[in-house]
Amino acid sequence: MSLVQGYRGAKKIFEDAKANRYALPAVNVTSTSTINASLEAAKEVNSPVIIQFSNSGGAFFLGKSISNASQKASITGAVAAAKYIHEASPLYGIPVLLNTDHAAKKLLPWVDGMIAEGEKFYKTNGRPLFTSHMIDLSEEPLSENIDTCKRYLEKLTKLDMYLELELGVTGGEEDGVDNTGVESSKLYTQPEEVSYAYEELMKVSENFVIAASFGNVHGVYKPGNVKLEPAILKNSQHYIQKKFNTKNNPVNFVFHGGSGSEVAKIREAIDYGVVKMNIDTDIQWAFWDGVRKYYKKNEAFLQSQLGNPTGDDAPNKKYYDGRVWIREGEISIKNRLAQAYEELNGVNRLLLAVGKGGYLKNCASLGEHGLWANIKSVIVGANSQ
Ligand SMILES: [Zn+2]
Repeated sequence: MSLVQGYRGAKKIFEDAKANRYALPAVNVTSTSTINASLEAAKEVNSPVIIQFSNSGGAFFLGKSISNASQKASITGAVAAAKYIHEASPLYGIPVLLNTDHAAKKLLPWVDGMIAEGEKFYKTNGRPLFTSHMIDLSEEPLSENIDTCKRYLEKLTKLDMYLELELGVTGGEEDGVDNTGVESSKLYTQPEEVSYAYEELMKVSENFVIAASFGNVHGVYKPGNVKLEPAILKNSQHYIQKKFNTKNNPVNFVFHGGSGSEVAKIREAIDYGVVKMNIDTDIQWAFWDGVRKYYKKNEAFLQSQLGNPTGDDAPNKKYYDGRVWIREGEISIKNRLAQAYEELNGVNRLLLAVGKGGYLKNCASLGEHGLWANIKSVIVGANSQ
């Protein structure tokens, strides 16, 4: 049984994360290799994982030669990758949240296409294809951003999914979106904006998380160039808690641009309700760095098909086989992600749900795979919301 979660499973995880002050890494993947490395890391640290596709990541999964007219490649690629993860997840035995990353206004047809596929999937399987989609209309006026988000939230809620939205602009550059020149006030979301979004979205459902800007940027920059202000998140939580008389930390926040961030700031952000931290750039580097180190170490065996220091005709096949050097990249990703889990206080956070349709775990598969020695907590009745 697939271990890809719906909103109900995600909600349990986020509630546990807030109660125990940790967050999960969300990894931008592009291929089976990057997916497998993410699942492997999660299994190794015994915690759930968030896997996500950007628009171009989805297209890359399908293949660079396929035209992306009408978003066809990005839709088909993300859907194919999601189905792959549904199939693979029981063997890794780790709950997975499947998200899609930034969809600006012009990319909404991509989200529409994935929702159409998700509706078909839900009809057949009784569970969502993706756990969540992100819509990033932070460039648009706030009222347009929230009105559009409400429309999508309604659709996603029906599919037991949640919506990730963005308020304020994440700085830096990623996937061809360049916000390096954005004026700095926009990089800090105001409590009134978060409160307005919270109030309006709650009229539809609670199935949302908010990416708020607190000086975070996409990419990795020279130390001192990024000024994170997690207190921005705290101010928003307090504002909403007071205004709507909610429990502590009512909003689930997402930290975009986690690569290269100081651990103290990450931990502070978690204290203020961050449950998910996106990590992309550092994973890209880890992938390459694993291959780079492998090449350096075995350089003399990687110059021709035949001939190396052991003999002029000695074969080098076992050095240049893609499964060997790509694997080194995978291991390097896995190690970097394990570090991220440590920094996020997210090691050994496996949750077990009891009850069929409760999604977090299928008990039958637990016994089968024998992976559950370190289960942290058992949640009964995930099925009943
Ligand atoms: Zn982002």
